Amino acid sequence: MTPAHLAKYEPVIGLEVHAQMLTQSKAFCSCSTEFAAAPNHNTCPICLGHPGTLPALNENLVRFIVRMGLATNCQIRPRSIFARKNYFYPDLPKGYQISQYETPICHDGFLDVELKDGSIKRIGITRIHMEEDAGKSIHDFGAETLVDLNRAGVPLIEIVSEPDMRSSDEAYAYLTTIKAIVTYLGICDGNMEEGSLRCDANVSVRLRGAPKFGQKVEVKNMNSFRNVQRALESEIERQIGLVEAGEPVIHQTMLFDANKGVTRAMRTKEEAHDYRYFPEPDLLPVTVNAAYLDEVRTEIPELQRARRDRFVADYKLPIYDAGVLTAEKSVADFFETATVSLTSKTDESIKAISNFIMGDVMRLMSERKENILQLKLQPQHLSELVGLIQDKTISNKIAKDIFPDLLGSTDSPKQIVEKRGLVQVTDTAALRATVLEIIAKNPGQLGQFKAGKTNLFGFFVGQVMKASQGKANPEMVNELMREELEKA
Ligand code: ADP
Ligand code: ZN
Ligand code: MG
Repeated sequence: MTPAHLAKYEPVIGLEVHAQMLTQSKAFCSCSTEFAAAPNHNTCPICLGHPGTLPALNENLVRFIVRMGLATNCQIRPRSIFARKNYFYPDLPKGYQISQYETPICHDGFLDVELKDGSIKRIGITRIHMEEDAGKSIHDFGAETLVDLNRAGVPLIEIVSEPDMRSSDEAYAYLTTIKAIVTYLGICDGNMEEGSLRCDANVSVRLRGAPKFGQKVEVKNMNSFRNVQRALESEIERQIGLVEAGEPVIHQTMLFDANKGVTRAMRTKEEAHDYRYFPEPDLLPVTVNAAYLDEVRTEIPELQRARRDRFVADYKLPIYDAGVLTAEKSVADFFETATVSLTSKTDESIKAISNFIMGDVMRLMSERKENILQLKLQPQHLSELVGLIQDKTISNKIAKDIFPDLLGSTDSPKQIVEKRGLVQVTDTAALRATVLEIIAKNPGQLGQFKAGKTNLFGFFVGQVMKASQGKANPEMVNELMREELEKA
């Protein structure tokens, strides 16, 4: 996109996000939602669509979507019904998907999204409705297609935005906000790569200042936040090219090819009437009253942005650090538990906890592809470790060395330090003896140092640290070394 194009044209974007709910069982039967199971293991006559079976609504699906509706400032409909969305596909055994059509349970909300420059943009939420997932067709076996119905009937919510976004950056910011909310609410794991969060992007372009929107195109098949942004950019460019050439934009569905970074046409878009929606006769209407809403309201925790801002205010952390620590609720919880158990709670020790989490903890999480709970690190152990550095029992170096051993350990840092004799050496006489020994052992370096190569100071200190196996107190070594080199 050339700047001239962007000065002339305005992109318009609306997103439809599917979020898979973290309920234990499926939407309308008691099959497990767990995916690691063997193909077609989590199925029963209901989700297989056998004649004569009746669906029964999973109450947690309602609870989860109401949490989402309240967190996105939606109106909650006191009485909503399900509808059948009819289409034929091998992975849809019933021949229809249970969804909501004219009466989505949540509607007319909004989200205030923070953009890169820190400004806030309000994005309207048209509706959020409940539906079930289809199965999965597997085409990896040559001419044969296999069908796995473990996913058939897994509960989803669909969050439909107003066409309020005006750039791919805004779409990206909106999606990250949705992810933060669903994960904080504990209703979805938010993993786009694994498909628990899926996004269809609707995009059009118009001349800036034009009174009406242009023809929209729907883009599918993006499996990461970055790819949504790339897909939007390439689609905006394609549409501007068409308009510039005087060609029409066709109402169709495009697929994003992540390797080539371009969108290509998949099919012309089906219209709602193609689905022959009609009310689901086998399910009762969903009714929610004020008492239920009050109850669900208590299940909504402090959300990410509020928590980040509180971390800045309460813990005097830089906003960047607070953002990193609160990106995942489990990490933010861990940080706060560790902080509470600090014996001496100072800005310095709190920052030390934050640094440990942002450094060693997160590095291990990404290396092992584990979340903070799976690491099996006790937050109390981290605060004790930081306490040991602060009271100079151990050096930073030793703390880093023993840190990996704390994972899954029942021994506390103190016990590990004692068992391995890692207590920091702060005995001046002993340290001075080592300092003198190192100076005596390195006459060549000493000569160069005295001749003006003062950066050899680090070499001498390093040798002492090495000789003490990292146990010497570094500040004391520095001081003693300075004294002794002057005299030498
Ligand atoms: P459809 O009838 O094709 O389902 P909807 O009006 O229900 O279309 O909108 C579907 C999605 O497309 C919504 O997220 C909406 O914000 C977005 N959308 C609607 N019109 C446009 C447009 N002209 N340009 C970009 N996005 C749009
Ligand atoms: Zn089932
Ligand atoms: Mg629609």
